[in-house]
Amino acid sequence: MRKKIICFTVWFMMVNCFIAQSTAYSAEPNKNEEYDKLMSLYKKVETITTIPWYVFAAVDQYERNVRHSRRDIPKANGLIEIYIKPEVWSGPINPNINDTDPRTIGLFGGIGQDGNGDQKADPNNDEDVLYTFANYLQKYGTNIDNIRIGLWNYYKRDKAVGLILGHMKLYKKYGTLDLDKHAFPIPRGYNFTYHNTWGDARGWGGRRIHEGTDIFANYGVPVRSTCYGVVEMKGWNRYGGWRVGIRDIDNTYHYFAHLNGFADGLKTGQVVEPGQLIGSVGSSGYGPPGTSGKFPPHLHYGLYKDNGRTEWSFDPYPHLKAWERAERKKK
Ligand SMILES: [Zn+2]
Repeated sequence: MRKKIICFTVWFMMVNCFIAQSTAYSAEPNKNEEYDKLMSLYKKVETITTIPWYVFAAVDQYERNVRHSRRDIPKANGLIEIYIKPEVWSGPINPNINDTDPRTIGLFGGIGQDGNGDQKADPNNDEDVLYTFANYLQKYGTNIDNIRIGLWNYYKRDKAVGLILGHMKLYKKYGTLDLDKHAFPIPRGYNFTYHNTWGDARGWGGRRIHEGTDIFANYGVPVRSTCYGVVEMKGWNRYGGWRVGIRDIDNTYHYFAHLNGFADGLKTGQVVEPGQLIGSVGSSGYGPPGTSGKFPPHLHYGLYKDNGRTEWSFDPYPHLKAWERAERKKK
């Protein structure tokens, strides 16, 4: 049923090694300290501008993810990772692209602002960067509809605005920046098996590569969210059958396919948390809506990443192993 294509497997393993390094899934000890510092920066600018802290948190997190997966954007000097291009900061006709004088920046149509009161608009200073972005948004107004328009004019990309609005929902609901916790999709007490099937060939629907891990379990076994996230997709797809897609705070898309059914009331746009019931194991897919039983029941679980331009899949197997191990350790 599955013939391995060696060269693809090796290539995907190499790609995966690179991505695994950039997507750390376990919270490091100094992470909490960093979250505290960031939160106080966001709250400080909220006080000045009345734009809610979670707007800044969401934009900053979106840009953090983009920056970490791209090479054409320089590394951030501080904690805030919002990147404002030098010509936008200093002004498009400013002869001094590294200008830090708020008066001349203003004169040449730049957006750079002094946020910390040192009379300099420094693109390498956290408070100046955050305040500059807040000041830009504030021109559109401070309610959510105005912020949406401001974001669209800044990014000119629907996907970026959608992702940022999703992050905002999560931060607002949980009131914290620490949304790194994950869960294994199948709860304890149920039988299941899975192997590393990344890159295997798939017969149905033309030449495709298996972009995920198959977790074999019986019909009706509960399937849970693996992350804090927003339900981005729910419904039928020819390959995946009844499927759910959840977008987490790292811009990672968690894909659950071949489901038997969905959790009661689950809908797109809904916020979910690790371990929350989203559906059950089935064998739907490989045909028009309702097709089922063309293969043994299993959960197909995939992970996809967004870098602000494109999306690509990466191997969920090592992450599933880590989450399974972490849950076993707890009890
Ligand atoms: Zn699969």
